[in-house]
Amino acid sequence: MSLRSQQFPFGHPHRGVLAPALGTRMHFPRRWRGWIAVTVALLALTGCSSVGDSSKGKLVIATTVSPLTNIVANIAGSNADVTGIVPEGTNSHTFEPAPQVAELLARADLVFVNGLKLEDPTLELAKSNLKSGASIVELGTTVLPENQWIYDFSFPKSEGKPNPHLWTSPLFALKYAEVVRDTLVQKDPKHADDYKSNFTKYAAQLNALANALRADTATLAPASRTLLTYHDAYAYFARDFGWKVIGAVQPKNFEDPTPVEVARLIDQVRANKVKVIFGSEVFPSNVLAEIGRATGAKYEESLRDDDLPGAPGATEHSLVGLLRYDYRTMITGLGGTATNLDALDVANTVTDTATYPQ
Ligand SMILES: [Zn+2]
Repeated sequence: MSLRSQQFPFGHPHRGVLAPALGTRMHFPRRWRGWIAVTVALLALTGCSSVGDSSKGKLVIATTVSPLTNIVANIAGSNADVTGIVPEGTNSHTFEPAPQVAELLARADLVFVNGLKLEDPTLELAKSNLKSGASIVELGTTVLPENQWIYDFSFPKSEGKPNPHLWTSPLFALKYAEVVRDTLVQKDPKHADDYKSNFTKYAAQLNALANALRADTATLAPASRTLLTYHDAYAYFARDFGWKVIGAVQPKNFEDPTPVEVARLIDQVRANKVKVIFGSEVFPSNVLAEIGRATGAKYEESLRDDDLPGAPGATEHSLVGLLRYDYRTMITGLGGTATNLDALDVANTVTDTATYPQ
């Protein structure tokens, strides 16, 4: 839609003259009032209002970490512009959004966050910039009652922040996808059939992942289904799939552990006869090598909790790709086999057009 500027007594509507003038209840000559009404209507149609980016007829959706971005992208398909906020490979637990993120949040029809206090600075920025008619959905907080939140090694109750990593369990990823489907159906009912059929395809993939994970877990003796990780991201997976997390190396402030804490971890590794320590590629640390030297435990450093594998557009750049990578690494590292996980199709179930900041 193109408009000639001489139609507007205040200049072009996007230059910001009209909106403040209306907001301060200024008085205008009677002959201008018709143009103001027309201009407001046109602004609504050109994407400056609460109906989303309607120049392309698409919902504008903001998300935070890339696993959430990917779940939303697999349900939204081509009906929405989905943009993540937390760059991949960044520490999402201490992330502070740049002020310019407010521009995206102010345009968004929907903002999906994990909740469980993971992205409080982004959530605050969203609340203070949310446009009329837009909604914020806290996926984790929606699917998990507070009395089931897990507090543990890096997320002690004394700090008030629960372990937020629900999405590393395929069962919670599925619950997130259900909430996303229901939210999109309600917000954009004319595309309800698309959202429902996209969900059906994605749910089948997540269920296949859960089944492969169960089958490959069974190749480990129950006593071997034991994790000591650097980043404490697998608590809900362990509860859902019968694993035991005996500890996490990373302290609650996300710094490296102190020498006293390292000495205690070395004792713990020996006492529990831990064979492998699983590090995180987002949080590289020399401490794992030190514990490995002292105890003889193997360590590997490549688990990932919110940094999808590969570059955007790559087949494995998906939450299912991330989870397959992590669980294959754990199971084979502990002596099992991962033939079912290896056989899984991890490609997105729709074309992923979301934006993943790097
Ligand atoms: Zn994390």
